[in-house]
Amino acid sequence: MPQNIEKIATDLLVDLIKCPSITPIEAGSLDVVEEFLSDIGFTCTRLKFEGDGSYPVDNLFATRRGKNCDTTSKHFLFGGHVDVVPIGDEASWTHPPFSAHIEDGVLWGRGATDMKSGVAAFCAAMRVLVENNDAENGIISLAITMDEEADAINGTEKILKWAKEQGYKFDFSIVGEPSSNKKIGDRIKIGRRGSFDGIIKVIGKQGHIAYPEKCKNPIPVLAEIATAISSNPLDEGDEHFQPSSLQISSFDVGNKATNVIPEQAILRFNVRHNDLWNQGTLFDWTQNLIDKIDAKGCEIVFESPTRGANCFIFPPAKDVELLDEIIRNQIGSNSKLDYSTTGGTSDARFIASYCPVVECGLVGDHMHAVDERVPLSQLTKLSEIYLNFITRYFSD
Ligand SMILES: [Zn+2]
Repeated sequence: MPQNIEKIATDLLVDLIKCPSITPIEAGSLDVVEEFLSDIGFTCTRLKFEGDGSYPVDNLFATRRGKNCDTTSKHFLFGGHVDVVPIGDEASWTHPPFSAHIEDGVLWGRGATDMKSGVAAFCAAMRVLVENNDAENGIISLAITMDEEADAINGTEKILKWAKEQGYKFDFSIVGEPSSNKKIGDRIKIGRRGSFDGIIKVIGKQGHIAYPEKCKNPIPVLAEIATAISSNPLDEGDEHFQPSSLQISSFDVGNKATNVIPEQAILRFNVRHNDLWNQGTLFDWTQNLIDKIDAKGCEIVFESPTRGANCFIFPPAKDVELLDEIIRNQIGSNSKLDYSTTGGTSDARFIASYCPVVECGLVGDHMHAVDERVPLSQLTKLSEIYLNFITRYFSD
């Protein structure tokens, strides 16, 4: 193993942490990655996307085609982001969040785990791969966005769409999000649950509470709907996923008067769902329950206000098994990895439309928290996992 991979990864991570790149402010972070990758033969394209109701975002697509490539060569894609969440109260941090302070082998700073470390580890691995002359039999690309932690509208999804228009096709992808559980490499994510948002509005007729016969009270109708959607289980889960979960997040009437029947009542809910559902079937399931409720003369309007996120799953196949083998060799473990589908959504959902994708990165401790930090030994292990995986991936 090259002696200097730890130093390469650490130096790069320090440079990245020092950029205060809170979504979507680039703050030099993409420049750091671009300069590093250009230096080892990557062609870098900055992609600025805007519109669709969101702020403009700077992104980076970097690609390197090995000298020995032909039409059958494999194309590997690394997905990641260098934007970070806000720091909260700076006074609560032990070390300033953009200082990249290193003490006792631990690097402190916003983005140290989520996920500038994943980007630094992969880039360091690419430098060593190129220097080892092991990068010439395949194509390596990186899609790095500044917009993962917030809207995620002008980021990875649009980079991938652009790449397809340029004729790029990918065979396998790793997203470097923190995926490990207790120690590095003990868990990878092979899928994620989807997310569906719903709003149900019941519109009645306002009036004096003493004369209910002249009014239409929307509240009991909406209460019945709330009971119906929250008491009917969606499913019992399946081989890869826990049961889907519907949670009501608000029930609003906004009526402070005690002598008025209000005109309308609004309910919002979210479903975290498994691969037995999609946006369309969840809409139909909800509508079907609503249709069974007696509206008592009120109007019921149901809509899904966001595009949501579809669920995806890639049951382990050859490439995942290779990754599994590399990780177990690296960490000296005999037990099978945990293939997980837990957690919220990530940009892997966008890559899933183009090629098989897994998430493989650090332990997720301190993500989005005060005093986010990473032990440098973990950063080195992750760099070595990426290096050994790509080396084998291109030689098989
Ligand atoms: Zn992240």
